[in-house]
Amino acid sequence: MSYQSLPDRLAEVRDRIAAACARAGRAPSEVTVVAVTKTHPGDAVRAALQSGLVDVGENRVQELEEKVAEVGREAARWHLIGSLQRNKARRALPLFDLLHSLDSLRLARKLSDEAAEAGIQVRALVQVNSSGEQSKSGLEPESLVDALGEICALPGLRVEGLMTMAPLTDDERVLRATFGRVRELRDDAARQVPGFAPLHLSMGMSNDYEVAVEEGSTLVRLGTVLFGERER
Ligand SMILES: *Cc1c(COP(=O)(O)O)cnc(C)c1O
Repeated sequence: MSYQSLPDRLAEVRDRIAAACARAGRAPSEVTVVAVTKTHPGDAVRAALQSGLVDVGENRVQELEEKVAEVGREAARWHLIGSLQRNKARRALPLFDLLHSLDSLRLARKLSDEAAEAGIQVRALVQVNSSGEQSKSGLEPESLVDALGEICALPGLRVEGLMTMAPLTDDERVLRATFGRVRELRDDAARQVPGFAPLHLSMGMSNDYEVAVEEGSTLVRLGTVLFGERER
């Protein structure tokens, strides 16, 4: 497969991010595009890097492992954006720079233990279930502050912010309310949780990244809009 249209697609995405930033009074430099290459071959990662992208996201450990082996651990900043099973924590640890999907206290403890053993700190974002959908993972907003308090006290973790996935909808009001709520949760938690100094809000995918940027996202996770539809 070739990714010839990627530079044009990326240029359009960057224009749209810049416009969303302008509407919100933000600087475009505050927003990083994470190229989500899941289901695409290593060529997609290479094309992304050639287009000037640095950050690459995968949602499964197995696929992350394959892409890292193919392209090189140092060739990109690797993001693990999908749920991580505790029994894969050790294997995943050396493969990513930032975990977006820290979604339970048990996973946090496991990662912290593994990191401490390896003599490193894991950088992670805590995933919030902002839509309340049963099918979505993440910590519940109601218990976020308490959970963050425990997670941020773990020695092997460095919690750098929050991540969320909006419900699948084109209703801009719903999207805006969802992202805005997570931004407020971040601000509340930053005031209340010692050791929580959030740098990042990972919000926005192909269908909703402009609203997410308007609502304060610093990391947009984009697959389809850059690489085309995935085969199912
Ligand atoms: C697949 C995926 C994305 C990218 O989705 P697109 O709609 O293709 O941009 C973003 N975040 C997560 C967690 C994903 O699994």
